[in-house]
Amino acid sequence: EYRAFNRDLETLRDCPAETVDGHVVTLSANIGLLADMHLARLHGAETIGLYRTEVPFLSHRDFLTEEEQVDLYRRVVEGMAGRPVTIRTLDLGADKYPRYLHVPHEDNPFLGWRSIRISLELPEVFKVQLRAILRASACGPVRMMFPMISSLEEILQAKELLAEAEDDLRSTGQAFDRNIPVGIMMEVPAAVYLAPVLAQEVDFFSIGTNDLIQYVLAVDRNNRKVGLLYEPLHPAVIQCVANAVNAAKNAGKHVSICGEMAADPMCALLLVGLGLDDLSMGPFFIPIIKRLIRAASFETAQNLAEEALRLPTVKAIKSCVFEVMRDLGMIDIVEMYH
Ligand code: PEP
Ligand code: MG
Repeated sequence: EYRAFNRDLETLRDCPAETVDGHVVTLSANIGLLADMHLARLHGAETIGLYRTEVPFLSHRDFLTEEEQVDLYRRVVEGMAGRPVTIRTLDLGADKYPRYLHVPHEDNPFLGWRSIRISLELPEVFKVQLRAILRASACGPVRMMFPMISSLEEILQAKELLAEAEDDLRSTGQAFDRNIPVGIMMEVPAAVYLAPVLAQEVDFFSIGTNDLIQYVLAVDRNNRKVGLLYEPLHPAVIQCVANAVNAAKNAGKHVSICGEMAADPMCALLLVGLGLDDLSMGPFFIPIIKRLIRAASFETAQNLAEEALRLPTVKAIKSCVFEVMRDLGMIDIVEMYH
């Protein structure tokens, strides 16, 4: 049944993710390993919306050298043949520790020394990565993205180091895209509150709901005991996403989403209705989300979003989404995933 279902979806690979009333959404892939590139292409990813560069670092004996990183990033960029690749700088820490990174014991690692905090404290390691990403940008369209930003100062510090990395390359005559778009993950509530200010300093936001949900709801994303409380359709989560989208759009900046929520059929249409026109997800989910988007109108998605923003409970929001999915004849997709 699963194979037949996928064969059916394969016919969608080269079709746009376009609603019945002509609103086009970009569907992108999240990747971590070079092998994922094959899956991204196979499932019709239009861009790489999130390249988790820490993944190759986890299986290595030491921090990758600049040349090793350039080689890796170039292969991803060339593999996408002119379509943009969003390369996220290292998001180590929390549950992603390589053996060679010595981190003292932390009682709350998700609230501890992780992600951009590590990069900013290890500027030499960070600059090696920044140079490598810049050099890969000479081979095709690359966007650079900083994870776990929680303040304006962090962006300014990261951009200062980026400017130094650019100077290094200029002084050695190495090619790179001098207008490389620079963006941030929106995954910490503080960033959502500051979104209008942060939008002035960056070219794009990518909403990381995997972390955003855990920080907004105070629910550990990896703790099964509280798994039922980890709820993407919580009204507070939806408000946060809406605020981040509106702040980006008001500033004329691009906004996408790369958390698992984008791949959830119960959430995808609502996200489109909130104004997200770029959803990035595990490559496997692209065809199914495309099928859903092609079955609905943008008007339906917008009405759903408007209604969801008014509702005060998860239960009410879910029944509203369920009704829309039933009207669209998409209950089979929901049942398959829930
Ligand atoms: C997220 O937090 O939503 C995200 C995409 O990043 P990661 O899952 O790698 O933390
Ligand atoms: Mg995250």
